[in-house]
Formats: sequence, structure tokens, C-alpha cells
Amino acid sequence: MRIARFSIDGNVAFGAVEGDQPDQLVLDIIKGIPFADFELSGTKVPLSKVRLLPPVLPNKVVAFGRNYAEHARELGNEVPDAPFAFFKPSTSVIGPGDAIQYPSFSEELHHEAELAVVIGRMCREVPRERVKDVIFGYTCANDVTARDVQRREKQWARAKGFDSSCPLGPWVETDLDPGDLTIQLTVNGAQRQLGRTSEMIHSIEDLIVNISEAMTLLPGDVILTGTPAGVGPLNVGDEVAVSIEGIGTLTNKVVKRG
Ligand code: MG
Repeated sequence: MRIARFSIDGNVAFGAVEGDQPDQLVLDIIKGIPFADFELSGTKVPLSKVRLLPPVLPNKVVAFGRNYAEHARELGNEVPDAPFAFFKPSTSVIGPGDAIQYPSFSEELHHEAELAVVIGRMCREVPRERVKDVIFGYTCANDVTARDVQRREKQWARAKGFDSSCPLGPWVETDLDPGDLTIQLTVNGAQRQLGRTSEMIHSIEDLIVNISEAMTLLPGDVILTGTPAGVGPLNVGDEVAVSIEGIGTLTNKVVKRG
């Protein structure tokens, strides 16, 4: 099931996305929240009549770095033996169609297409065989990075945590085997990144075991799983789109921060 979060007439709701034709999708409004048992209301609205929001409002976004060997190499980094994580704050999250605001303190903004895992239940110290039980679903993410700032500053709070640096969407796909999906990114329609999730060094199980050893994960928390090779610059006016097989396409425009 594809679950979107959206606003209509000033109200925020979740809905199940129905249909196959991109211009004829319909939302069946969910009663309650999708992290608990929920029912579909049967009240349907065309997707074209609503504004899609970030599909979840995470308490935290935990992002893993250098999880595709070719990407680690393209930036001159070693492939890490163990997963390593950093945070993107909740205030970095934006939804499909929202603007990526080019920060004033950077001159080298980069895109990073990533598969995002959405956590479905509160959990800690998750054993490998239980990881699938704590996953709600999957969505597309762009780990937008001020690369010049990342090189200058040891901690990446500013480089990867500025407002609008974490586009998520367009919705969460709950029925998906994430093991070998095409992940690609275009800028103004030209392909920049292309990879497969099977190229991850550390699997989704590894990543969730690793982070949940350290901290409690909450429903709606998001885990970013690393980016394939091909990262590169974003400029004001660019339209950047992350597409993942079986999920959909997340599109955002880059604007000057006002
Ligand atoms: Mg990244």
C-alpha cells in the first residue's frame, strides 16, 4: 500500500494512494494514523486536488554515510568497515514539490539520492531477524549536502542539517522488497545518479541493528541508507528528482533562500 500525507482545505490527513495512471491517482482517506491499526474511510479525493506533505514527520532522521563503495571512492574516502551514522534534524524535512532553499553559507550544494526506511513502531536493540517487524515502509529521500561546508567542518550538523536539506516522498510504500531496486536521480531531466540498492555495503538489517543498539527508534523515524555514485552540484532554478523502483518519484526545485 502507498500511504501519503496531505493537506486539504486546511486539514492534514493520511490517505491510501489508489490507481496506476500518474494523473488519475486517488486518495482514500485513512481514519486515524497509519502506524496503528487503521481503516480506510472510503472517502476519496483526487490526488491532484490536494497538496502532498512529507509522508511522515520524523522525530529524527538517522542517515548513514558511504554505504555504496563507488560513491565513497568518488569523494576520495575509504569504504568504512562498520556503518557510521549522522543526524538530520526534523526541521530539515520537506515534502514533494517543496523548495530546497540554497543556504547562504555554501557555494557547493550537492544532491544525494537515497532509499529511506520509515520505522513503524517504537523499538530498541532490534535483533536482525526482527528488523522487518519494525519497518513501516520505504520512501525516496534526497540527502542534500553543502559539500564545501562538509569538507570544512568536522561535524556535519550545518552541512547536512540545514532547513530543507531532507526532501522525503512522495509517499510511503509499505509492501516492497527493498533488496534490489533501481535508484536514480535527474537534474532538469538529465540523469546524474543511477544505482541499485543491492550495491549497499551494509544492508538495511545491518543499519537498523547498528543504530538501535544506541538509541530508541520511534514510529515515523527515518533511516537514510546512503547514496550511489554520481553526486554533483545543484544550482538555483534546478529541478531535482529522485526515483526508486516500486516507490515513485520525489521532485523538488532549488530556490535562493529568501
Ligand atoms: Mg547521504
